[in-house]
Amino acid sequence: MQFVDEAVIEVEAGKGGDGALSFRRARNLAKGGPDGGNGGNGGSVQLVADGALNTLVDFRFKPRYRGANGGAGRGQDKTGADGGTLAIRVPLGTTVLDEETRTTIGDLHSLGETLIVAHGGRRGFGNAHFKSSTNRAPRQHTQGAPGDKRRLRLELRVVADVGLLGLPNAGKSTLLARVSASRPKIADYPFTTLVPNLGVVRVDYRSSFVMADVPGLIQGAANGAGLGFRFVKHLSRTRLLLHLVDAAPADGSDPVDNAKSVEAELFACSDAFRSRDIWLVATKMDLPEASVGLPGLREAFPNRRCFDISAVSGHGVDGLVGAAMTRVAEIRERLRTDAEFAAQEHGFSERVGDHVRQKLLEAKLRQEEPCPVGGADDGAAGRVG
Ligand code: GDP
Ligand code: MG
Repeated sequence: MQFVDEAVIEVEAGKGGDGALSFRRARNLAKGGPDGGNGGNGGSVQLVADGALNTLVDFRFKPRYRGANGGAGRGQDKTGADGGTLAIRVPLGTTVLDEETRTTIGDLHSLGETLIVAHGGRRGFGNAHFKSSTNRAPRQHTQGAPGDKRRLRLELRVVADVGLLGLPNAGKSTLLARVSASRPKIADYPFTTLVPNLGVVRVDYRSSFVMADVPGLIQGAANGAGLGFRFVKHLSRTRLLLHLVDAAPADGSDPVDNAKSVEAELFACSDAFRSRDIWLVATKMDLPEASVGLPGLREAFPNRRCFDISAVSGHGVDGLVGAAMTRVAEIRERLRTDAEFAAQEHGFSERVGDHVRQKLLEAKLRQEEPCPVGGADDGAAGRVG
């Protein structure tokens, strides 16, 4: 799934240092020549493409950047120090626009690529600079120029790393809201009736991942009821699925049975998911009615990693997020270094896509009316997903 993460930042380059007005002074020298040094150039601000960053979430915490000013020139021909370039690390693939004009300034497509976004102010000249055969004692000197200042819009196409799966009321939206540091907007989303909810989960500086809560598929979807099962295609592009299981269902149903039926529905949509990384997460563990929890899930799903959490009290949430981050980071690394694995991952999405197309075709052939699918929140009864 591709989405656009965005951030607006303000960058200001350093001011150029002023040139000095000064004349040489010495006991044995009646009239010394001019020796006012030049200022230093103001520091520019540049962006650098960094492969270790994956979202723009850090810019929400630090939206302002300022390059250092150039030092002032001084007497005895002393030049002020240059401000030096301030480098801001941005994720590889970031597009940079001018926020006011909305014109593209540049794209950072290759690792380590740099883009100057604010030029430092030019240095001022000291009076020594203006010395000439006709003017041996110039008093002229100039001030440093101010640096560029502009607001930038950063945009990054991000993929959802982690997908949420589970019955309505399992607690997907609540978990997403609890762990999200920001909400990317959705770009070019083809199915307007199925808008995923996205959150960027920031684990620490330099580690974040994108979590998606895709509105559910309708029960019986695998048999072509409605169009809801298209969403599995999007889940197929996530690297890890978290299957949220309500440990205290209000209808008194059995959490393990519910979990099994959700899996069955998913596998019926595309059995390619059988080999997928799916973790089970028992939710609402703060409730006294929470029955099943970890041991029950572990027993029923011995081959899956299991967690229990409460999105309300926060119990287990950090552990789950940390484990997901570790797994996502491992997968990203493999995608970068292991071509065979990358091809496999791609093949998986393709296979699910084929299954979905097939089901859509079958549904069309049966001329079934598509069931209405609601907005981003899947509160309606009778849905799975
Ligand atoms: P979704 O349909 O899967 O998105 O489920 P929601 O996140 O909308 O949650 C359904 C209901 O369960 C809401 O009333 C939530 O307040 C409640 N809920 C979600 N997580 C928890 C939790 O950890 N503990 C408790 N006590 N209630 C929760
Ligand atoms: Mg929801």
